[in-house]
Amino acid sequence: MKKNLLFIPGPVTVPEPVLAAMSKPLIDHRGPQFAALAGRIDAGLRPIFGTEKADIVLLGSSGTGGLEAAIASTFSPGDPVLAAPVGVFGRRLIAIAKTYGLEVDVLETELGHALQPDALAQRLAADTKRRYKGVLLTHNETSTGVQNDMRALAPIVRDHGAISIVDSVSGLGANEFLMDEWGYDIVVSASQKVLAAPPGVSMVAVGARAWQTIEASTTPRFYFDLLKAREFARQGQTPWTPPVSVLFALDAALQHYHHEGAKAVWHRHEMYAQAIRAAFTALGLPVFSQPGAHSVTVVAGTVPAGVDAATLLRKLREERGVSLSGGQLELKGKIVRMGTMGDVSQTDVLGALGALEMALLEYEHPVHVGAGVQAALRVFLDLAGGSRPDAARTKAPQAPEQTPAASR
Ligand SMILES: *Cc1c(COP(=O)(O)O)cnc(C)c1O
Repeated sequence: MKKNLLFIPGPVTVPEPVLAAMSKPLIDHRGPQFAALAGRIDAGLRPIFGTEKADIVLLGSSGTGGLEAAIASTFSPGDPVLAAPVGVFGRRLIAIAKTYGLEVDVLETELGHALQPDALAQRLAADTKRRYKGVLLTHNETSTGVQNDMRALAPIVRDHGAISIVDSVSGLGANEFLMDEWGYDIVVSASQKVLAAPPGVSMVAVGARAWQTIEASTTPRFYFDLLKAREFARQGQTPWTPPVSVLFALDAALQHYHHEGAKAVWHRHEMYAQAIRAAFTALGLPVFSQPGAHSVTVVAGTVPAGVDAATLLRKLREERGVSLSGGQLELKGKIVRMGTMGDVSQTDVLGALGALEMALLEYEHPVHVGAGVQAALRVFLDLAGGSRPDAARTKAPQAPEQTPAASR
């Protein structure tokens, strides 16, 4: 098989030992071995969600299934909720809520920007009768490369009192998240993003306040019922046959995560994201997310005039073995997106950026040869700090070779 570097924002490159875990013989999902597996996964997830108190349920689904379970189980038809989307995935929460008959008010934010805490505070303060039963938030918006400041938003939602549902599918694990301390009620994530396991499992952490609402919900649901999921989770099971092999992988992925250490994982994502932003900027693909709103798990770059995004991505994939993503909906053709998640090395990042640069050179896009890779390399060397003997040499960098493609 031709080697391919996967830099899409999920699913991501899965490390070999995690892949290998999937080839283990299957076990009885109603037996003690499965309960032990579920217990290990639960223990591994708790520090990542930042919760000791919540129930964490595992569902056999992609992230969207977890979000649907959360919304369908928590509210009742006609319940007013406030959604604060900052991109395509935020809008998916709205679509799910409407599907289940909720009355959705929307607080809009310009694409590329993060949700402004003041704007949310104002909107919730205006709800003097406390009509909103829920607030729907996105931790990391994968469609625009934007990350919301969940620590800053938390007290605002808490003051209002509505049940918060946080889509942290592409955020959880890549930086600090403190569900209990910040006071979020429901947080949803999935196996195939930061944790770098294959797709197939969503994880939903549900706090005590949310369970009260869930117990009172009249929304029809069957498979995606958090109450049933909790009942079985407390016995180390799932209500339905779970994707056992993916859970083997998730177990291994969590061991991998904690072996590396949360802080090291955060640093890796931050470093890769910075390197990619620096490279995109140097290559003339302005970063789409606004300063202060940058995601650490995905970087979106604006496609320059004269470059067709679809062709660029196809050529990268077919001719150079590098998979990046394009824009979704109204951003289609306007941006390219590069993920930082998964089992990718600095060398892989540099290789992918070099490939992007070569593909751009074919467009006569005025790239200074090596500018993107050099910018990324400088970030890697700087962020590695004093631990690298060659760090000092990066302080006086050489100018990139001034060879615009057009003049070659
Ligand atoms: C990936 C992702 C999802 C879930 O997508 P699935 O394809 O259903 O796993 C939801 N929200 C965000 C922000 C995501 O990045």
